[in-house]
Amino acid sequence: MRDAPERITHYLCIGCPLGCRLEVEEDESGAIVEIRGFSCRKGKVFAEREHTDPRRMIATTVTVVGGRWPRLPVSVTEEVPRDRMWDVVKALRSVVIDAPVAMGEVIVADVAATGVDVVATRDMPLAEIAR
Ligand code: SF4
Repeated sequence: MRDAPERITHYLCIGCPLGCRLEVEEDESGAIVEIRGFSCRKGKVFAEREHTDPRRMIATTVTVVGGRWPRLPVSVTEEVPRDRMWDVVKALRSVVIDAPVAMGEVIVADVAATGVDVVATRDMPLAEIAR
């Protein structure tokens, strides 16, 4: 009787500049049987997370009215599931807010029903009135 064929997926750890090449081996049922290639615990955790529940931070800008600049930099407060990133970006496209805005202010709560908020990552003062 032959052993079940193993399935190996490769990842590049982004935890530090060393860039360890990680391998996640799973059995036929999809359960992880071994993680290899990491040089520290951070890499092992990264590989497991990337394999089972990949998530990403999103930083972009939204339209602001009456501010010193026309776009306000924003970011999610925590990583969102990778397969929901497009939903978040689409939701932010139509956002228009009024200046002034303080850094850290919630711009969109529970964006795209992800349970994650989007906050301003800088202050946006009012535009100076032309004299
Ligand atoms: S496994 Fe550890 S040492 Fe290797 S790249 Fe990731 S964080 Fe750096």
